[in-house]
Amino acid sequence: MSTDTLVQQQVDCDVLIIGSGAAGLSAAVTAAWHGQKVIVVEKAPVFGGATAWSGGWMWLPRNPLARRAGIVEDIEQPRSYLKHELGERYDGPRIDAFLEACPHMVAFFERHTALQFVDGNAIPDIHGDVPGAATQGHQVIAAPYDGRELGPLLQRLRKTLRETSFMGMPIMAGSDLGAFLSMTRSLRSALHVAKRFSRHLWHLLRYGRAMHLVNGVALVARLAKSADDLGVRLWESVQVQQLLQENGRVVGALVRTVEGEVPICAKAVVLATGGFPHDLSRRQQLFPRSNDHEHLALPPQSCSGDGLRLGESVGGQVDTDLQSPVAWAPVSKVPYRDGSYGHFPHIIDRAKPGVIGVLANGKRFVNEAGGYYDFVAAMVEAVPEGQEVASWLICDHPFQRRYGLGFSRPTPVPLWPLLRSGYLKRGASIEQLATACGIDSQTLAATVSDYNQQARSGADPTFGRGSTPYNRKQGDALYPGSNPCVAPIEQGPFYAVKVQPGCFGTFAGLKTDGHARVLGDDGQAIAGLYAAGSDMASIMGGHYPSGGINLGPAMTFGYIAARHIAGAGNYE
Ligand SMILES: Cc1cc2nc3c(=O)[nH]c(=O)nc-3n(C[C@H](O)[C@H](O)[C@H](O)COP(=O)(O)OP(=O)(O)OC[C@H]3O[C@@H](n4cnc5c(N)ncnc54)[C@H](O)[C@@H]3O)c2cc1C
Repeated sequence: MSTDTLVQQQVDCDVLIIGSGAAGLSAAVTAAWHGQKVIVVEKAPVFGGATAWSGGWMWLPRNPLARRAGIVEDIEQPRSYLKHELGERYDGPRIDAFLEACPHMVAFFERHTALQFVDGNAIPDIHGDVPGAATQGHQVIAAPYDGRELGPLLQRLRKTLRETSFMGMPIMAGSDLGAFLSMTRSLRSALHVAKRFSRHLWHLLRYGRAMHLVNGVALVARLAKSADDLGVRLWESVQVQQLLQENGRVVGALVRTVEGEVPICAKAVVLATGGFPHDLSRRQQLFPRSNDHEHLALPPQSCSGDGLRLGESVGGQVDTDLQSPVAWAPVSKVPYRDGSYGHFPHIIDRAKPGVIGVLANGKRFVNEAGGYYDFVAAMVEAVPEGQEVASWLICDHPFQRRYGLGFSRPTPVPLWPLLRSGYLKRGASIEQLATACGIDSQTLAATVSDYNQQARSGADPTFGRGSTPYNRKQGDALYPGSNPCVAPIEQGPFYAVKVQPGCFGTFAGLKTDGHARVLGDDGQAIAGLYAAGSDMASIMGGHYPSGGINLGPAMTFGYIAARHIAGAGNYE
């Protein structure tokens, strides 16, 4: 931001948006397109929040890309899936607001802005055995974007998360990632990877960063470009200190800039600060078993609960009555040479054929190929109180070289740096591996032997790897065996990575209505105050029915809030 543009005493706008992730930027673009004067303030020196580090998938049933592909679904199908998944936490008015608005949201961005999408039509909902679960047509992701389109904004954009990129190169879920994982088995994939990587090296040399933007960073880049085109003012390194109120109405905020405090007056304020993944005291208060594990939160440090505190300061209520307050993610801790640590999310490796997850007692505890949330929830449940909540992913040499294990990459990336740093454990036998990890060795040997007996014929009767469409989609379609999620673990050396509870973000948040207005303790909307993204209590009630259930609603409720503020009429 150029703070020269801040006048000394007061700044005025129609809509003040706090936070520059998916929720904030969706609201900003929508409001500006509807003629509002918009300011977005961002506490960090770069914009994009957790969204820029995310996979970028958005759960948006009945979206126009699905419809164009001939997937036509009645609103009753996703409604029914959510009713079965969320049970008593199904919030009809907010779910309906979301399901009705989300196709319009996608159409709006496609038609009027730089945000274009690619479909994820083949991605099934996570719990395929639940009534209403879809096998297709629910996901979209931002189309790849050339960073050069951003002009000077590029330097202010948060870079991709180090752990999920390769030398700063983000890899797009789907066929791009598929090519990286099959490059030793397919000439076409090898050529794709060679082309992508050489282009990336050129971009690093020429621009000092990745230019082929994909996933969450492409979403943020496209939203920021759209916002800029519409005259939105986007200010980084500006932290909101306090909301301003007049006669019970929120009329702006006091912000701290490098030059001092400035009041920003607005007719409405949207809280979109990314929830509380780094608010240690709220985490301690709400996260289950928080004394029994180190929590490895994935979002940036700046997502530290400001929105919830600001909302509460004017009477907003934090909803804690959720199935889970946290969007669990299985995470491993990556030690770097300078003594710092990174957090690696285990999204892809768990479903591939030839890996299992075990506890310190050497026993398996879950269908590892299922949802990331389910993996951690089962781990928290299975580890006895008072013991460290942690698990280990175990595989053999061919698996590691083919798919990689966590942050350890497949062939041809060498393993020794991660063996030396202690991230990756190795053993010539399963017993030696168990000793290296501190796992009960006899039980682990028995677990692997039992698993292998069935795995040789592609079966996993104990936990059912490969039993749902979601499992199989996450497995390896090229694997020659009968089950894309099951292969024996038998060719040493063997490897393991410690997996701990972490999160993609938080589910507990401010109570809101179907217009994204923050509700006071009387259940009435607080005039002038809205919340979207992780600052609003998740409409999923703390459940995780599908990938994309954070960003889909974040984009949609940002859009809903802005339309309500602007007094927009019926959907086009
Ligand atoms: C590695 C990873 C992968 C993920 N993959 C997916 C996925 O594929 N699909 C999905 O649905 N979800 C995914 N998630 C979760 C998803 O990214 C988040 O839920 C979502 O980005 C939250 O969006 P948001 O707009 O609420 O907040 P954010 O994107 O986090 O933005 C909030 C911004 O507010 C700023 N801020 C905080 N306090 C202040 C203040 N006082 N003043 C001004 N600014 C402030 C923060 O610095 C931050 O930039 C993933 C998360 C991670 C970390």
